[in-house]
Amino acid sequence: MAHTFYDPRLAGRSLQYLKGVGERRAAALNKLGIHSLLDLLEHYPLRYLDFSNPRSFHEISDGENAVIKVKILTGPQRSLVRRGLTLYKVGLADSLGRPGYAVFFNSEYAAKSLVLGREYLLMGKVSVYRSYAEIASPEILPADTPCKIRPVYHQSAGISTKVIERLIAAQLDQLGEIKDPIPEPYRRQYGLCGLDFALRNIHFPESAEALESARHRLAFSELLTFQLAMSHLRKGLARDSTDSVPACDLKPFFDSLPFPLTGAQLKAIAEAGADLEKTVPMNRLLQGDVGSGKTVVAAALVYQTAMAGRQSALLAPTELLAIQHYNTMTRFLTPFGIGVALVTGKTTKKAREEIAAGLANGSIQLLVGTHAIFYREELRFSALSLAITDEQHRFGVRQRAALAQKGGHPHILVMSATPIPRTLALMLYGDLDISVLDELPAGRKKVITAVRQEDAREKVYDFIKKQLSEGRQAYIVCPAIEEGENGLKAAVSHYEEIARRFKGFKTALLHGKMHPAEKEEVMDGFASGEIQLLVSTTVIEVGIDQPNATVMMIENAERFGLAQLHQLRGRVGRGKHTSYCILMSEAEGGKSGSRLEMLANTTNGFVIADADLKMRGPGEFLGSRQSGAIAFKLAGVTGDIDSIRLAGQMAGQMAAQGLDERPPISLLIEDLIENITRNGLN
Ligand code: ADP
Ligand code: MG
Repeated sequence: MAHTFYDPRLAGRSLQYLKGVGERRAAALNKLGIHSLLDLLEHYPLRYLDFSNPRSFHEISDGENAVIKVKILTGPQRSLVRRGLTLYKVGLADSLGRPGYAVFFNSEYAAKSLVLGREYLLMGKVSVYRSYAEIASPEILPADTPCKIRPVYHQSAGISTKVIERLIAAQLDQLGEIKDPIPEPYRRQYGLCGLDFALRNIHFPESAEALESARHRLAFSELLTFQLAMSHLRKGLARDSTDSVPACDLKPFFDSLPFPLTGAQLKAIAEAGADLEKTVPMNRLLQGDVGSGKTVVAAALVYQTAMAGRQSALLAPTELLAIQHYNTMTRFLTPFGIGVALVTGKTTKKAREEIAAGLANGSIQLLVGTHAIFYREELRFSALSLAITDEQHRFGVRQRAALAQKGGHPHILVMSATPIPRTLALMLYGDLDISVLDELPAGRKKVITAVRQEDAREKVYDFIKKQLSEGRQAYIVCPAIEEGENGLKAAVSHYEEIARRFKGFKTALLHGKMHPAEKEEVMDGFASGEIQLLVSTTVIEVGIDQPNATVMMIENAERFGLAQLHQLRGRVGRGKHTSYCILMSEAEGGKSGSRLEMLANTTNGFVIADADLKMRGPGEFLGSRQSGAIAFKLAGVTGDIDSIRLAGQMAGQMAAQGLDERPPISLLIEDLIENITRNGLN
């Protein structure tokens, strides 16, 4: 997690220094990810209760949620509604003197907190009767409280939002002025408020405007710290050195291919090929949609490396993908006498020993394997120059460190099938150079995409049955695992219905909470063709490749980001049969409708990602998708693309002035890098 500021007084400070925090509360705070006083101050409110615009009863219609300013006239009257339900009614009058009651159920404590004769702001649902009004279980704020916008915190068992509020308020009181790591001239240039103001106002806003500028400032800080860390890492990497892999004539390789390369592929090969020649290790991201032909780009680079008498490694996130890569690479490269080997969890001890020998004597020039096995095994290369990894989210600084142990600082190529808009890619992978495959090979069949509403469900099922009867396979993807949120199709219960509706067909369920062995069994069953219809959550985004699958049906499609829908769509259309993507959506027309229509009409992942970014902001890219080190607290929710650009610019200026080498900035960066190193990037 990127901190927005760093104060050595707070960072190392245990929670038990706080008044009112013993072992139990400290444990509850730990559960919320709060381990130090610094974390506590960065535990930003989940939302706010805004008491700043009170009204009077006559302005409010029956059933409305509202804030009213009241004076307490009578103490709580208790009445038993039925067993287990006691009602407390407190008599009051609004600012115009109209009578009413505050009503509390079973909560004598809350009722008694309203003091006779005092004025309060009450927030809650108002019922209007002929001669009086009632407000039920209201939130309470004494009318003379200066800050009228109150924080609500994410809480956990053993600690309530009120207690968290008190701890933070006490802490802020004690602290005195919090020093700002961003120098004043920078703040002025970028229109940012001071850190002290921001931290106080994110918790206890003086006004809506103050809250807005506090949020903006803190979100900006997160982005800035991250960008500074990236440029710092980049500087560090630039100091490593590796052997140059000289350019070679690639014509024989190109001539051996059954197809001409696209312009984008040739450009990517040229860019990465030139990097290989340098002694500064390459750090390059190769981005391109599923099917854009990343593998052959990788093969060309392995070819160049092998011609120089050096070795390459190709790492995949799953065993299945590793095997696929192995088969492809063998096809591309063995004709040139390049030795290719595969290592997975199933490789026997004897075979591993042979591989180790082949790596040592140089007869193996490309080793393909899963990350897990690759890092665990005592596999040593004699001349490792290039490490390629599929799916960037499994790759980080930590793996880079591990790679160094395998043999120096090899050139690194990271392949990603998630098109990310350039601005964001620069931000998230600021330590990588980027090549883009934004052009699909010619003659690729388009996946036919349609948006369908609930009334067409029967027809859609019939269509899927027809495809299955013809020997094809299909996916149905749901947004959630278990029932809960407002009528979303949840995989578990939806599967039961599907299994009933598709009697006679072989169906299966797949979701992230299943036991790994179970998951693997289902995935194998789908890969072998035994399972015809797979109901799942988005776990299928990575890992399954079944060219025989021709239908991707997505439930509650409006709930997904366009980029993610596009990703899911990429699961079909991989074989010779025409494929279909059916987006089920209740939302007719409107914003969500047109989003889905746009997806139906576009196949270019970069165009889609850009549209997603414009429509939904960068939240999806910065927020929950990332876990661990770079889940941004505020930037994920409130960040905008301009802030990302400006934070990058500011980071550049600061680094040029050497501020990244001096405290407090250097401390912030160190802290983040340590985090990233521990958790992996993403
Ligand atoms: P991805 O980018 O998803 O990894 P692959 O490398 O698996 O894509 O390529 C998808 C398919 O397209 C493979 O069968 C590959 O052989 C083929 N392919 C790659 N480049 C071209 C091209 N320029 N023209 C035609 N087919 C190509
Ligand atoms: Mg691929």
